[in-house]
Amino acid sequence: KARKRFGQNFLHDHGVIRRIIRAISPHESDQMVEIGPGLGALTEELLSEAGELDAVELDRDLPPILRAKFFMYGDKFRIHEADAMKFDFSQLRKGEKRLRIVGNLPYNISTQLIFHLLSHSGNVEDMHFMLQKEVVDRMAAGPGENNYGRLGIMAQYYCNVEALFKVPPGAFNPAPKVDSAIIRLTPYHDLPYVAEDVEQFKTVVRTAFNMRRKTLRNNLKPLLSAESLESIGIDPTLRPERLSVADFVSISNFLTQHKGKETD
Ligand code: SAM
Repeated sequence: KARKRFGQNFLHDHGVIRRIIRAISPHESDQMVEIGPGLGALTEELLSEAGELDAVELDRDLPPILRAKFFMYGDKFRIHEADAMKFDFSQLRKGEKRLRIVGNLPYNISTQLIFHLLSHSGNVEDMHFMLQKEVVDRMAAGPGENNYGRLGIMAQYYCNVEALFKVPPGAFNPAPKVDSAIIRLTPYHDLPYVAEDVEQFKTVVRTAFNMRRKTLRNNLKPLLSAESLESIGIDPTLRPERLSVADFVSISNFLTQHKGKETD
């Protein structure tokens, strides 16, 4: 029986499962990592196409079931009984191969977990996740779209983000209350825009969106003046949702370079 506290909604629609596997297109030289395999709906297909797979599952009742189900894969299939939020994914990496991560995640931890993974993104080739459709839309939104904000900017700072397709509630058992969608995140090996101080960048993005209806000049007042924004070519009367990732990086780097000087 599915456990609510582990966010268990198991995939049972075989058409949807095949579509996800096609989008991932596992290769026999890949080292796959699956977060929250559940009863193995995706695991089965991944294992038959990928070279090896490490699964991280929190519910202790599931690993014995999975081991029995996939015993014929021998040590190609390894299961780690652990909390993915605390798991060190870099330990899974062997040699030069980067990890390909897959997960139909519990929706209450999905965004936090993605940020945990992004901090190891040097080890990661790509990530495919099933998320609430609303969260996928926010992550993929660009400047000017009304759901563009902190989540999208942070994801797009680290990754190329692609919203792939929608999955209806009926594909799961039990059916969740919301629509779901598949997202692909491909971490950049060389970031297109580099914040000299990532903590500063996070602060700028958070502060810029403090109040959505306000202008940049108002929101960013605690960090820098309207004149400073103009000096780096950014119109202070814009709303934050008009700015690109590159603009936020420029503001952050300006602050890093002028540390302490603004308030003098
Ligand atoms: N992948 C399966 C499927 O598609 O049918 C199961 C998906 S279900 C939405 C989420 C899975 O994540 C469950 O198996 C649950 O036990 C597991 N899980 C929940 N929290 C977890 C955590 N913090 N770390 C690892 N696994 C977790």
